[in-house]
Amino acid sequence: MRTRVAIIGAGPAGMLLAHLLAAEGIESVVVETRSEEYVASRIRAGILEHSTVDLLRAAGLGERLDREGHEHRGIYLQWPEERHHLDFVDLTGRSVFVYGQTEVQKDLVAARRAAGQSVHYEVADTALHDLETDHPSVTFTDSTGRPRRLVADVVVGCDGSFGPSRGAVPASLRRTSERVYPYSWLGILADVAPSTDELIYAWHDDGFAMHSMRSATVSRLYLQVPNDTDVADWSDDRIWDALATRLGHGQDGWQLTPGPVTEKSVLPMRSFVQTPMRHGRLFLAGDAAHIVPPTGAKGLNLAVADVGLLAPALVDLLGRGDARLADAYSDTALRRVWRCTHFSWWMTSMLHRSGDDFDAQLQLSQLRWVTSSEAGATGLAENYAGLPIGM
Ligand SMILES: Cc1cc2nc3c(=O)[nH]c(=O)nc-3n(C[C@H](O)[C@H](O)[C@H](O)COP(=O)(O)OP(=O)(O)OC[C@H]3O[C@@H](n4cnc5c(N)ncnc54)[C@H](O)[C@@H]3O)c2cc1C
Repeated sequence: MRTRVAIIGAGPAGMLLAHLLAAEGIESVVVETRSEEYVASRIRAGILEHSTVDLLRAAGLGERLDREGHEHRGIYLQWPEERHHLDFVDLTGRSVFVYGQTEVQKDLVAARRAAGQSVHYEVADTALHDLETDHPSVTFTDSTGRPRRLVADVVVGCDGSFGPSRGAVPASLRRTSERVYPYSWLGILADVAPSTDELIYAWHDDGFAMHSMRSATVSRLYLQVPNDTDVADWSDDRIWDALATRLGHGQDGWQLTPGPVTEKSVLPMRSFVQTPMRHGRLFLAGDAAHIVPPTGAKGLNLAVADVGLLAPALVDLLGRGDARLADAYSDTALRRVWRCTHFSWWMTSMLHRSGDDFDAQLQLSQLRWVTSSEAGATGLAENYAGLPIGM
């Protein structure tokens, strides 16, 4: 098979890239190990930055987002006996949207299907070849068991944290930076109306807790737990009790309403960046190049931002023979990647209980500062609502 851009991974990065390229007349083929249904039903991110919403709207993907998504002006930050609202719109003029990654994925799949996008689901043995030539290729076994070779002008690795693309950059040329945190998140999805109008981020001596949501009837909640926690040790009652304590049930009359838990999983917390994000005719985008802990709600937004930079770079390279944006892609994307990596690390470090009483007092001091100083609050708001793509 021959195409212009071979895209590995049909997650949000891969499907959005295919969509943006097609809008400029550049053909692509996507290969994906999982089934379409599996990819669309993975419960992951839920907060879209201002720039992500702008990009999705500009790409013609904003219709259901505007109808069913919920615009939030800010978040609550709290610790025992205190809850403060940070209003991002007042502070920066920018808001965020609650709209699940599952919904973004469905919109992308529907748009690409309507346009006749070629996507090979349920492939195996994906491998990358000849990346330093002008005819790189991807080989795989398709869902019928047939070996295939896809020859392209460019290969883009959008295959997340476990795909083969990042390892295709020679070991002598790649650099990785990593931080593993000494705690994880136990996340639940519950069929119950959220007990809050906007997200609550709670510092507590027992550990961090967070109240998020996916819709008017579905809540998403998280608890800080030790690494290697077995989800079987956490009954629904134990989870709701811990959430009530950490989120301040009863504080100033606020009530946490429990409900049926429909999904429960443990998510380890990790920061990871691999550089450069380009090698020869291979480009990396999204989780294939970097992972952030979810505290700053940046993972999905960073994937979108990478693709927002890469699509015009590939259009210039393949459509006009102009390599300037493609040559600058890695450096440009990494400026934002490191900004978001710092913000995610900072939010994580400020809110998760770890260390001794000295650490706890520093965390509380930081929380008091960002909730009482306009300068502190604006810094958090600017990063959370999201800096412009290409900053
Ligand atoms: C369990 C979990 C929970 C998360 N929760 C949050 C959250 O609450 N908030 C937040 O902001 N972010 C969260 N994230 C991060 C966010 O979901 C990711 O940053 C986002 O999905 C990145 O999109 P992507 O397209 O780069 O990668 P992915 O969505 O991972 O897509 C990569 C795709 O590549 C495919 N693939 C892998 N290997 C191959 C191969 N060999 N051949 C072909 N295809 C392959 C995969 O099956 C996958 O579909 C979470 C991530 C995980 C894993």
